[in-house]
Amino acid sequence: MQSRLLSAPWTRPAVRAATPRAGRVAVFGGTHGNELSGVALVGMWVKDGAEIQRSGVATTPFIANPRAVERCARYVDTDLNRAFTAENLSALSGDELPYEVRRAQEINRLFGPKGTADAYDVIFDLHNTTSNMGCTLILESSSDHFVLQMVRHVQKACAPAGCSVLLNEHPLLKYSTSRSVAKHPIGLEVGPQPQGVLRSNIFESMRLILKHALDFIELFNCGVEFPACSVDVFRVLERVDYPRDANGNITAMVHPHLQDCDWEPLSSGDPMFQTFDGRTIEYQGPGPVYPAFINEAAYYEKQQAFVTTRRETLSACAVRKLQ
Ligand SMILES: [Zn+2]
Repeated sequence: MQSRLLSAPWTRPAVRAATPRAGRVAVFGGTHGNELSGVALVGMWVKDGAEIQRSGVATTPFIANPRAVERCARYVDTDLNRAFTAENLSALSGDELPYEVRRAQEINRLFGPKGTADAYDVIFDLHNTTSNMGCTLILESSSDHFVLQMVRHVQKACAPAGCSVLLNEHPLLKYSTSRSVAKHPIGLEVGPQPQGVLRSNIFESMRLILKHALDFIELFNCGVEFPACSVDVFRVLERVDYPRDANGNITAMVHPHLQDCDWEPLSSGDPMFQTFDGRTIEYQGPGPVYPAFINEAAYYEKQQAFVTTRRETLSACAVRKLQ
């Protein structure tokens, strides 16, 4: 008979998620053609993928938007990383569709169909930001325990270097990403790196995060059980635009006290923007909030100076491969 001690709270078995093995994994680079770490890493692995292969896992390196890569542009017709909507994926194919919509359909055929049992298990999508965000993993669901456990594994393996986690479940701000085709989508966003530039430190950071993430999948597929844990995340709250005039032109810049301060607390009354004539515009709102993507180059066109987030701790239940 089990002793009472064994049923003490700290030994009580947590609810466990039995998850099918993750046998098919893809690594996307060049979803945005001017974010060169992913373009270079995936280009390297297309030639020789030994580094990203793991026992029991087939990993496919894939350049998501080759025409944008060729031009070193974010996209050709429209943002591929917003193109995986049900409407786009079901649109009748034809040359009149924007290039990225046709490409989204092709990616959905190769790695999806999105939302079905045939979809790839995991897609890692490699991105760079011009913001000072360091290494960030981007999650699309707070209830994907497999991904939460992967994040925890990566964070432990990377320590003492940090790896932040951005969670986007916002009903309006969540968008239809390339990686959303997979059962377990995960974004890697590393910066700061200018568009069209390769920096060795950013390249190596991205490579290391992916290595640890693939190691996790291998361990998981071997039957290792990962015990219940908690993961600290930054949840997307709100998009903040630059001040603009009646014609839509920007009238202020990110304030020097906010520039490069991604993930640092921003409270009501703190400087947020600086107008061209030197006036300070303060943040007003409940807080503190934690800004991210501060002054990201690609987001001027999306009317976004930064997003605010709040800190949260998520619980991940134990996971083990479904027998
Ligand atoms: Zn990107």
